Parts: sequence; C-alpha cells; structure tokens
Amino acid sequence: MNVSNDTNCSWINDLDQRKNIKTLESNKDADWLIIGAGYTGLSAARKLGLMYPNQKIILVDSQLAGEGASSRNSGYLVDTTLNDGFTSNKILEAYKIKTDIYKLGIETIKKFIKEYQVDCDWNECGKYFASSKIEDKRLLLNFSDILSKLKFEHILLSNNDLAKKLGTNFYNAGLHTKGGVLLHPGKLVRAMINALPSNVELFENTSLLKWQNKNDLVNCYFQNGIIKTKKIIFAANGFLKSLGIKSNYNFPITLTASMTRPLTNKEFKSIGEPKEWGVLPVRPMGATVRMTKDRRILIRNTAEVHNPYKMTKSELNKRSIKQKIGIKKRFPQLPNDIIQSTWSGVVSRTRSSSQIFEKIDENIFVAGCYNGSGIGVGTLFGEQIALKASNEITKEIKIIEARNKPTWLPPQPFLDIGVKTRLLYERLRARSEI
Ligand SMILES: Cc1cc2nc3c(=O)[nH]c(=O)nc-3n(C[C@H](O)[C@H](O)[C@H](O)COP(=O)(O)OP(=O)(O)OC[C@H]3O[C@@H](n4cnc5c(N)ncnc54)[C@H](O)[C@@H]3O)c2cc1C
Repeated sequence: MNVSNDTNCSWINDLDQRKNIKTLESNKDADWLIIGAGYTGLSAARKLGLMYPNQKIILVDSQLAGEGASSRNSGYLVDTTLNDGFTSNKILEAYKIKTDIYKLGIETIKKFIKEYQVDCDWNECGKYFASSKIEDKRLLLNFSDILSKLKFEHILLSNNDLAKKLGTNFYNAGLHTKGGVLLHPGKLVRAMINALPSNVELFENTSLLKWQNKNDLVNCYFQNGIIKTKKIIFAANGFLKSLGIKSNYNFPITLTASMTRPLTNKEFKSIGEPKEWGVLPVRPMGATVRMTKDRRILIRNTAEVHNPYKMTKSELNKRSIKQKIGIKKRFPQLPNDIIQSTWSGVVSRTRSSSQIFEKIDENIFVAGCYNGSGIGVGTLFGEQIALKASNEITKEIKIIEARNKPTWLPPQPFLDIGVKTRLLYERLRARSEI
C-alpha cells in the first residue's frame, strides 16, 4: 500500500521543491537494497555508497525521500528522555546504556553536519521537561537523581524561572538539561539526500509490495519492476510491521503536530521575547511544545493507534483544534488563528521501548523503532547497520547491542486493545498537560 501523506508540514514547506525525482520503471539487480529513505535508510545508503564505490546500491521510498517522520518530527536531538521511576542500580545501568546510545547519535549527526557543512538551525540550547502540576515535581526530583548519578548537567526550575525562560505561566515544575540540540528536521534530512554518493540510486514514490528470499537473492516486487538484491536493509520504521518484519515486536503509532506562523513583533513582545526553547512533557501523553528560532510555536499533543498510511483532512482538522487549545492554554494573549499547518507522522514502538537492530537472515538486516529519539539514534543505526551487514564489529555496535532486545507482543486484536487502553490511561493521567 502507498503512504499517502498530507502536504501540510511546515518543515517540508520551508524547503525548495526537489527536482529529478526518479520512480522505478524496470527490473534491476543490486548488491544492496535499502527500503525507506528517512534518517536510517539515508545514513545506511550514504555509508554503503562510501564503503563500496564499485557496487550497485539502490534506495527506495514509497513517498518522497525524507518526507515521512524524518521531516515531520519536533526536531529534538535528545541526550536524555525522562525516566521518572528510578529504583535500582539495574535500572540505572539500563538507563545509562540508553543515554550512551543517544550520545553516539548526537556525535554521528555532529560529524555529518560538520563534514557536509549543513545548516539545519542547530542550537545547543538543551531542553526542558515541564508540567503544570506541582505534584510532578516529585517525578522531576527522581529524574534529577538519575541525571546527577550519570553526571548530566541539569537544573530544577520553579514556575517563575520557567515563565521567564518560556514566556508562559502554564508550567509549575520543570527541569532543564544542558545537553541535547534543537534543529530543523527538514533541513537535516534534505542535506542527507543531497549527500548521497553517486553510486546510490534513489527511487521515490516506489513502494515495496512484497518480498521473498530465494537462492541467496532477495526478490523485491514493486508496481513497475522487480529488484533482485544480494543484501537488503529494512529501514521503514513505522511500516516494518506491515512489511512483515519483526511483526510481533513492533507496532506503529501516529503522531500529529501543528505549527503557527511566525509571531509578529508585538505578539513576541507580549510573551517576553524568549530565546528559542523546547519543552518535553513530564507525563508521556502530554504536549511537546517548541518556540523555533524564527518565533513559530510547534505543538504535538496526540499519539494514537491510527491507519499509518493516511490521515484525512477532516481527521487532521480535529487534531488541529486540540492543538489550538493547547497553544491558547499556554499563551492566552496570542490570537486564536495563528496555526499555519497541521500534519501527521508515523513512529514505531516496541513494548519495552528498545530499538530493533538485527540481522534477521543471512542477507537481511533491519534497524528501527526509536519512538521519539529517531533523529540521532536513526542516523546512528543507519550507519551501523550498514557496517554490521558488512560483517564489521564496531564499538558503537557493541553499545547498541548491549541494550535489552524488544519483547514479544500479542497478536491482533489483542495488541490494538492493549495499546489503545494504555494510551487512554496515559491520556487521562496527562489531561491537564495537553
Ligand atoms: C510528530 C513527530 C514528532 C517527533 N519528534 C521527534 C523528536 O523531536 N526527536 C526525535 O529524535 N524523533 C522524533 N520523532 C521520531 C522520528 O521522526 C523518527 O524516529 C525518525 O524519523 C525515524 O527515522 P527512520 O528513517 O527510521 O523512519 P522514517 O522517517 O519513518 O522513514 C521510513 C521511510 O520508509 C518508507 N516506507 C515505508 N514503507 C515502505 C515501503 N513499503 N516501500 C518503500 N518505502 C517504504 C516511508 O515512506 C518512510 O519515508 C517524531 C516523530 C513524529 C511523527
């Protein structure tokens, strides 16, 4: 099935339209085929292209390259994500491995943008975790304890501190971590497309329909041709399950976000002219809110089980109204109709929030499932899965593989019922934070 995305995403609409888009029109043979051209697939293709200048590498995407979740996210390159339940050394060790992977992700992107001179509105301003509920201070104190043990620079903040930094009185408890970066995800992924080596052939609007592993070759069927490849890397993230890859270990979740137009000078003054910032929620289903470099406000406050292939205009409108309310709650002085665009994107989840990084057969590899940390981790996993598929063992692969593997998920309809119930519970717990 084709992914049919909306055309509303501000991050994508900020960029020039690409030219020379090629679609697969005939049969091909390849040494390497990569399915999915987001951060993961683009990084894998770049790495393979550089490692094997004389080999045939094909990268396909069912939509325009980079225009899935990789352009549709909130642009937080994270060094930490909230862990509010610290109780034992075992948990501390597991959390440390997670943050070691984040750190490698940040380093991988830093190296890429330095090497290719990428302008992606990079801002090492760290990020906030904040809540309007004063009771959530307890969770932030627990989190602060973990951060101190792992030597992450951070600071706890009160309502007053937060109001000064963010220009809203909404939040009553907060914590700022110094690490982590805010960036323009569309500009970053576009740079990755431009950096593809010349021996990587990119076919867009080209959906893999089915595949079969036969006589040491993987035969991949598309609408207008078959690609026979010696090795394949699946980098389709939220669509892995629909391709039958690790289907009992991952499932797609659809997120929706909105972005305002840039605030006028008067509007910006009315909120205290804050510097660029990003807030992540303390409760999992609360809102992510960001003030961009050019004074736009981004809000993401939905996460749901939905058809990953399409969200209709009227479905998007409903979510946009929710996001308008979210902005109004935080900035009552701003006009009602400043949202310029609303879009959806698909991420992949596992039960234990672990990622997938695996050889699943002699010539078949998969990397994905990063939830809200795919900018850095996806870029890292893309490069490292290319190395793993080349039989290399790096220090990065050792760290990635030290993390717990995802655990088994029940089949449908039990999976949907379980996930929907959990999301509903989390939504109720976070209802003041949406
Ligand atoms: C609203 C939102 C906010 C987010 N915020 C953040 C954030 O702040 N920070 C962060 O790090 N992460 C965030 N994420 C998650 C992040 O965007 C993803 O983890 C990341 O994009 C994953 O990259 P990827 O390359 O693995 O997958 P994707 O970008 O999803 O790319 C997979 C590609 O596979 C293609 N594909 C699927 N099926 C097929 C097929 N059959 N044939 C060919 N191609 C196929 C798709 O079209 C898609 O382009 C957010 C995501 C969303 C939606």
